[in-house]
Amino acid sequence: MSELTINKRIASIPASVTLGVTSKAKAMKAAGETVYSFAAGEPDFDTPEHIKAAAVQALADGQTKYAPVPGLPALRSAISNKLKVENGLNYAPEQIVVSCGAKHSLFNIIVALCDEGEEVIVPTPYWLSYPEMIRVSGATPVFVRASQDNDYKMTPEEFEAAITPKTKAIIFNSPSNPIGVVYNRSEIEKLVEIALRHNVYIIADEIYEKLLYDGAEHVSPGSLSPEAQEMVITVNGFSKAYSMTGWRLGYFAGPQKLVKAVNALQGHSTSSPSTFSQYGAVAALEGPQDCLKEMGVAFAERRNYIYDRVSAIDGITCVKPGGAFYVLPDISKFGLDSVAFAEKLLTEEGVAVVPGAPFGVDGNVRLSYACSMENIEKGLDGFERFIKSL
Ligand code: PMP
Ligand code: GLU
Repeated sequence: MSELTINKRIASIPASVTLGVTSKAKAMKAAGETVYSFAAGEPDFDTPEHIKAAAVQALADGQTKYAPVPGLPALRSAISNKLKVENGLNYAPEQIVVSCGAKHSLFNIIVALCDEGEEVIVPTPYWLSYPEMIRVSGATPVFVRASQDNDYKMTPEEFEAAITPKTKAIIFNSPSNPIGVVYNRSEIEKLVEIALRHNVYIIADEIYEKLLYDGAEHVSPGSLSPEAQEMVITVNGFSKAYSMTGWRLGYFAGPQKLVKAVNALQGHSTSSPSTFSQYGAVAALEGPQDCLKEMGVAFAERRNYIYDRVSAIDGITCVKPGGAFYVLPDISKFGLDSVAFAEKLLTEEGVAVVPGAPFGVDGNVRLSYACSMENIEKGLDGFERFIKSL
């Protein structure tokens, strides 16, 4: 029998480290070990009751069949309205496709948009799944290393210098994972101006738009002008804002031609996302929004606490996150690469962090503060003890 071979683009994909560390920490806890986990980019809050009630009602009403491939009309229309009212974007419901999470939306977009021989610009540090999605499409990720001195923000000059005749798109994630970078309006205006001038699509991953601190404003690149909107593909979802990670629902809005291609791809892969989940998502968008405020207050308190303690540690430098729920301290002074650091920290102190290497920054580790204050306090005690021991 000949040896099993794997498609050459898939064979080189490493497993997701964020999901890997998260499940390792969960398994250690289940085995009775004391673990303080800063691994998961997953809010610890339960999904708000009124959202769960809408999905339960949908099940009771027999909404247990396939939905249309791009999503329920009621949900596409609620998303279209949300994008108009909250983001200043004018997408008709027909320009929206609902998928199984923002991750799935991004995958569909990248695979449908990008081709062999094309390049996609990825500001670094980046969320670890972007390069893998780009590689699966056959295109090449081009990394633009944003400097820590500029709070890890890519400058307009750095962006423009990375553009070549092969550049198809840039992935723009603000607020960002893994560092919580938030670009302000004038910075986004400059990036959009450059993208339009060079005919580069902007894939705007806005999954953390609701998680902003110190009064920061979220600006959707596509809202700057009708011309900008034509070059922007806006991605969002329900996981982070409404604490709905397990519901697996995300969406994108973009040019009709791309919608048509993704619709066809989705029709041959997943079909529609789960039907009763989508009823919950309609309730999330159209129901009361107080839950967002409550979660936002808790995240702001955690962010201040974790940033103050981590940045006060001798030998560590850390950029203050403006959004999302991650800090990315630079641990390069301690003589261990990020994977060795994270492994030793987990073994010696039972503290789980995600190494920076898969985010393109091997001198850093990522701590998610989407966890309880108690976990943060005790976990940081272990983190500090570990650093002193090095
Ligand atoms: N984009 C970013 C930057 C993320 O951190 C995540 C992580 N969950 C996603 C997209 C995907 O989220 P989901 O698939 O749960 O909607
Ligand atoms: N995005 C979250 C994280 O970075 C969840 C895990 C994943 O999807 O990668 O931790």
